[in-house]
Amino acid sequence: MQPLADTPIARYGIEALLRVMGVRAKWCEDPTPAIYYGSDPQIGRRAAVWVYPKGDSEGESGAWTLSEIDGVPVVSNGKKPARLWDGRRLEFDVFRATAFWLTLGGERSVGTRDAHGRVPSSASLAASDIMAKRPPVHAYAELLQTGLERTIGRLATGSRWPNDRRYAVAFTHDVDSPERRSRIPGLMRDLVLGAKRTRRESYWTLRTEVKSQGLRETCFARPTKRRAWDFEKICAQERNRGLRSAFYFAVVRRSEGHACDVVYDADRRRFRRLFGELDAAGWEVGLQASYSAGSAPRRIVSQLDRLTKLARRPASGVRHHYLRLDPAEPLQTLAAHAEAGLAYDTTIGFNDIPGFRAGIALPFRPFGDAKDSGSFLELPMTIADMHLPRQDETAAVDSVIAHLETVRSIGGLAVLNWHAGHWYSDPAWRAAYLAACDFVSSDAAAWSALPREICRWWLSTGDQTRGPGDCAAATTVPSSTS
Ligand SMILES: [Zn+2]
Repeated sequence: MQPLADTPIARYGIEALLRVMGVRAKWCEDPTPAIYYGSDPQIGRRAAVWVYPKGDSEGESGAWTLSEIDGVPVVSNGKKPARLWDGRRLEFDVFRATAFWLTLGGERSVGTRDAHGRVPSSASLAASDIMAKRPPVHAYAELLQTGLERTIGRLATGSRWPNDRRYAVAFTHDVDSPERRSRIPGLMRDLVLGAKRTRRESYWTLRTEVKSQGLRETCFARPTKRRAWDFEKICAQERNRGLRSAFYFAVVRRSEGHACDVVYDADRRRFRRLFGELDAAGWEVGLQASYSAGSAPRRIVSQLDRLTKLARRPASGVRHHYLRLDPAEPLQTLAAHAEAGLAYDTTIGFNDIPGFRAGIALPFRPFGDAKDSGSFLELPMTIADMHLPRQDETAAVDSVIAHLETVRSIGGLAVLNWHAGHWYSDPAWRAAYLAACDFVSSDAAAWSALPREICRWWLSTGDQTRGPGDCAAATTVPSSTS
């Protein structure tokens, strides 16, 4: 797929940017458009903002590079612009750049892969320090808005979140190995035979287990009791703070899955009961697609089917185990979700660091010009427990709070992912989660909602360029003359 090859992708970028800005606009043939994307100077000079198309039509090729002009991350695969503005003319093609990030362009030509076929953050342009504080699509929206307002005055932008909240937060949990098993034999072995560091780690884990469970429970509880899980505890902590979250369950049978798949069977009675309890109490039950489902649309359909039967309610959203979309064509996995009837995916995040893998911290339509996204949205995952240090509680807490502050400062959406099975085994991660819950629940500027509610809100307020517009009109002319 070569999404940057023609103008429709720029149209996709324009629509996406206007949505980020919250500006109502429509496509028009107006001789004096507010935004003009094209190379005809007659029209360009009359527009409030003229964006000059750059890209393949000018013979640009080669590796994508990222630089910074006036604090704006500029991506190019050829000659990079010397400056951002030339009068009203924006020299940097923000629309193609927006499409580039939203369609994971920063990973497209990356050959480096980890053992699971995923692009490691160290090889992704989107993980660059340049955009850790302000994801590029947000920067482009501000740039365009500043340009427009210079000429046509203040834009009527809708509020991004309900009740004028500044930012949104979705709490989510992947359910990989929720049942506690006794770790005592392994820990005792490490304590006696392990290397110095392992010995220290197992000492602390053992201490934590004994502290929270008691010595008798830790060492002598019957095996059935050791299958206890922490859903009640997690939900109680959230409920106390007025929060709700989504849990993504895998339904692949142990006998059918890949060696990396989860080790529980969701059709056990205790799971079915749990689904009902979560749903009745206002939590969301979503699908965790199996390790190899990313490349097998039929599996997504059958897993969704199975979860719907077990939970007795269709799931709205999905996240892939190992964050593993199709390694070569990640957008095709998302297209399969939309076709299966899901409302959203929330897989696109880095495996190893917090951040903005699609260059945005907001819901967005993910397919570029390849396919009409309908009402399907991507809610990019922005931070997870596995991004944080396991042994250093203070550092873990600081990271998650700093992340929330970043998202707050850009009015974005933070999607947190804390594995249900680590609640008990990783006290530093648990502390970081509770700190995040405290931060959000005590912040009047935060809107915390279930992912499916966030989708509903986003769709109910969106689609500026699809309906009748009233404020800024956008025109585009094919740029083949350049
Ligand atoms: Zn998983």
